[in-house]
Amino acid sequence: MSTAADHLSAPAPLLGQAAALDSADSLGHVRDRFDLPDDGSVYLVGNSLGALPRAVAPAVADAVQRQWGRSRVGGWNTSGWWAAPQRVGDRIGELLGAAPGQVVAGDCTSVQLHKVHLAAAAETRRRSADGADGARRVVVADPASFPTDLYVLASDARLAGWEVVLASPPDVPAVLAARGGEVALVTLSQVDYRTGELWDLPGLTRAAHDVGALVLWDLCHSAGVVPADLDANDVDYAVGCSYKFLNGGPGAPAWIYVPHRLQAAFANPIPGWNSAAQPFAMTAEYTPATDIAVARTGTPQMISMLALEAALTAYDDVEVQAVRAKSLSLTGFALEALDALVPEVEVVTPREPERRGSALALRHPQSWGLVRALHARGVEGDFRAPDVMRWGIAPLYLSHADVLAAVVALRAVLDGGEHEAAELSERPTVT
Ligand SMILES: *Cc1c(COP(=O)(O)O)cnc(C)c1O
Repeated sequence: MSTAADHLSAPAPLLGQAAALDSADSLGHVRDRFDLPDDGSVYLVGNSLGALPRAVAPAVADAVQRQWGRSRVGGWNTSGWWAAPQRVGDRIGELLGAAPGQVVAGDCTSVQLHKVHLAAAAETRRRSADGADGARRVVVADPASFPTDLYVLASDARLAGWEVVLASPPDVPAVLAARGGEVALVTLSQVDYRTGELWDLPGLTRAAHDVGALVLWDLCHSAGVVPADLDANDVDYAVGCSYKFLNGGPGAPAWIYVPHRLQAAFANPIPGWNSAAQPFAMTAEYTPATDIAVARTGTPQMISMLALEAALTAYDDVEVQAVRAKSLSLTGFALEALDALVPEVEVVTPREPERRGSALALRHPQSWGLVRALHARGVEGDFRAPDVMRWGIAPLYLSHADVLAAVVALRAVLDGGEHEAAELSERPTVT
């Protein structure tokens, strides 16, 4: 395979800048915690499926051979399987600014969204003075949400008797000003999955609370790279997956955050036996757990859970604030290099640091061709119809030199017209 930057080298000032930034990088050593091919390729899809941490393969082998193979059913106790969802939840919670006992791993994000929607509807009813449904029947959501968020919400809104009002995050305060007393829940993503825009989680949470509404944040595209400070911001509910920047692997368990103050009344709409106060009492009558276990459902996917737990060791001794700082340095440098070398490509992601997540969205009429041609040069990004190329910037394993190599490769693709032929290639059904 040709390496990313073949046939063209970067201008000396940018090369020097990348080298200086990389040598000052306090997280540079973390790259060695990942099993990356040594072929000069640049992986920019860590926002979709994070790269493989080295700790995962031995942990999975141990989970299968020793724990399952030798301990067999005893593994639920001797290998700590039963407690794993909460143990892993606590580790993720550290990255989210959540004190222990408020995050539990399991299921997929879509299922966790369903649990929160209906639990929030029940919480709203509980809070209404007369115990009836009250006047709050509106749920506010971003029309640009990841599709699963909208699909699950539409179905849950039918169950809860809610009206869905769609508003982009900047318009949410106006909706709250107009209809605040009717709003049960505001549900938003911290980072827009398509544009990479970072929304104001503290401010929007306050705005929702000011009118008495609950708030749910989907952190799929920000967990592990952007601090959320869930406890400090008084967030009511949050969910996210762990296969993106958290590197948990394909189909890794998702997670759900329910703060202590909302756990006792959390009405889990899928109250499986794992969420019961005494699961092994096997009583016919359901008594919910009063801690975060109330948000569990059924038997967790243990091999994936242990793979995720091992993957999270890539964050050992790493503060999410340092990851955020490196992310901003990488995306900021990428913007400089893009402006200098490929001005004809439009940057969709906002340029202000406080409005940038950890991915860049680049618009070009032949983005599909660019993604394919870059892939042939070892630069892997992804495509979002109709014309956006996404570059996920994973600070744990990317360097400024990697980012520069990607931009230089993009210049080479455009100069060589390599995207013209690639544009005609078949589009994937899965990206
Ligand atoms: C990736 C992603 C999901 C994924 O949902 P799953 O049910 O875990 O497949 C959901 N929401 C957002 C915002 C995402 O980015």
